[in-house]
Amino acid sequence: MNYDQNDIRLAFAVSNKAQSQQVDYSYKVDNMVEDWTMTDDNTITFRSLSPGKYTIRVRARLHGQNWDTSTATSMTLVIAQPWWWTVGARCLYICILLVSVYIYFHRYKHHLLIKNALELERRKNVVEQEFYQARLQFFTNITHELRTPLTLIVGPLEELLQSKHLCKEDSFHVNVMQKNVQRLLELVNRLMEFRKAETNNLQLVVSRGDFKNVITEIGNGFKNANPNPDVRYIIDVEVTSPYIYFDKNVIRSILSNLLNNASKYTQEGNIGISLSQVVKDSHQYSCVKIWDTGCGIDADALPHIFDRYYQVNSVYQAQGTGIGLALVKNLCKEHKIQIHVDSEVGRGTSFTLLLDNNETYQEALHQETSEGQMPASLECSHQDDKGDELSYKGHPTVLIVEDNCEINNYMAHSLKNDYYVLQALNGEQGFRLAKKMIPEIIICDIMMPVMDGFTMVQRIKSDIGTCHIPIIMLTAKNTAEDQQKCYEYGVSSFMSKPFSVHMLKTRILNLLEGQRKTADFILQKIKAEKEVGDDGNEQNKLSALDQKFLDKINQLIKDHISSEKLSLTWIAEQLKISQSTLYRKMKALTGVSGNEYIRKMRLNHSLLLMQEYDRNISEAAYESGFVDLAYFRTCFKEEFGELPSEYLKK
Ligand code: ADP
Repeated sequence: MNYDQNDIRLAFAVSNKAQSQQVDYSYKVDNMVEDWTMTDDNTITFRSLSPGKYTIRVRARLHGQNWDTSTATSMTLVIAQPWWWTVGARCLYICILLVSVYIYFHRYKHHLLIKNALELERRKNVVEQEFYQARLQFFTNITHELRTPLTLIVGPLEELLQSKHLCKEDSFHVNVMQKNVQRLLELVNRLMEFRKAETNNLQLVVSRGDFKNVITEIGNGFKNANPNPDVRYIIDVEVTSPYIYFDKNVIRSILSNLLNNASKYTQEGNIGISLSQVVKDSHQYSCVKIWDTGCGIDADALPHIFDRYYQVNSVYQAQGTGIGLALVKNLCKEHKIQIHVDSEVGRGTSFTLLLDNNETYQEALHQETSEGQMPASLECSHQDDKGDELSYKGHPTVLIVEDNCEINNYMAHSLKNDYYVLQALNGEQGFRLAKKMIPEIIICDIMMPVMDGFTMVQRIKSDIGTCHIPIIMLTAKNTAEDQQKCYEYGVSSFMSKPFSVHMLKTRILNLLEGQRKTADFILQKIKAEKEVGDDGNEQNKLSALDQKFLDKINQLIKDHISSEKLSLTWIAEQLKISQSTLYRKMKALTGVSGNEYIRKMRLNHSLLLMQEYDRNISEAAYESGFVDLAYFRTCFKEEFGELPSEYLKK
């Protein structure tokens, strides 16, 4: 029977029908019902029989008689296995399981092998890197040691060459010596530079200038020193190239390496350097091309030429170290220059460099434009007569006092998103602007025409309207005495040129944060009804002049606290300073406006009267200078979070 035909009912009877009412039946099933079991009638029902073979035995007797097992009748019933549990199916399952286990372990082993291989590779790389770095360090140390004696040889050799007592032959020998020492020095310098670039220790020092001048200068240098009459140098520079930011030394190093290679691999023909303007992905780039009509590079070797120590295996291969192009690649990366090479054997090679015209190199050090790069007609957009607003769009005001327009504009450009920037070109202008606008921070140079930085700082620090303003001194003079002098004059921070805008921004933020903390501290102090700064708490960073000024104001407020006339205008009259100066000064010192400061003092006084001197609410309000009781309640709730009545109940 099928596996699902397993609900079975068996009926049986004795052959003599006349006896059928007097007969008892009992049955047993081998391996299932082991004892003879009586039935109530002549049927047996099996439900949900499992697959298997069953032998059902039935015996009968007349009522009251004994059982006679020998006459029992039997029947064999076979319930087949379902198809998915047949022997074949089970074998298949076992096979699938075994195959799965095998695949799993095989893959796992493969995975382990790959993992181990990778780990091995990684360790090998680390060891190689360490070894490489150690080797490079060793070479660098030696080359570093070589530099001094070489420099000491170059000097006397040059003097010898100038000497009139040198005969022709000696002069020739000295010339050879000088050329070779120069070459050695060049190699030594290149190695030092390579090491710096490899260890990411290269610090860009950029300035904005005329890029075409540098290209022409370098090109002409090679053209004039060209020893090979069969090679012609072609310099093609667009006259209308814009001023861009670049590190002259890095550019010189990149171009010298490329031009050196061009001259090594061009025995006859042309070597060119060109500068043009290109637009790529809507960005304006200055494009420098160094090309030659020399031997060219094989297509298979081309992808590897920027690898360190790589040299093409060809008949044209010249002497070298294989680090030139690796250095070029590193320098280009540092300078954010895109470099591309095209070459064809027998036709020549061309390297293309793309410099983004709008890149300002925020992380680099910025230095003043050198003579050769100085743009002749750059206008400094200093704003001597800006509007009278305290700050623009709520940004803190920064005043830059720097006579170099380039640097001044660069700083202004870098800060303008976060600050309202004022610019001045000398100490005189700077002091005037500082008095008029009371900026939050002043950044200032030392050496300036008309009035130098030290004089300006002195004047700012001795004027009550401006003495609280933190000053960052930014200067090329960076001796310990200069620093000492700056701090003596009351400068808050000192930065030497060339500087990084990132660092400048951090300094500004730190100084503003310091000011905010001092203002918080002053407000906390008046809450506690104590003299500000009298306990010399270190959080109070006020200068002696500011401290005196604040003490004077506090005293004036205390003495006239109950008077209605007490206001910022009245205090300005008493101190004989302009109302706007007082307003800005108070805001800078306390972080709140002068009138708000007076109100805070009045409220604190009212609280003191209620708590210590048992005044009722209206008495305390009037004695603290509030004429309108409803207004007093509103102010009190604003300051202390509760109405005066609720506060007193507590
Ligand atoms: P090297 O010190 O050997 O010049 P580089 O890193 O400067 O090392 O250059 C790597 C290799 O690229 C060179 O050895 C040379 O085979 C190939 N190469 C570089 N520039 C040129 C070029 N202008 N023409 C042909 N081959 C060049």
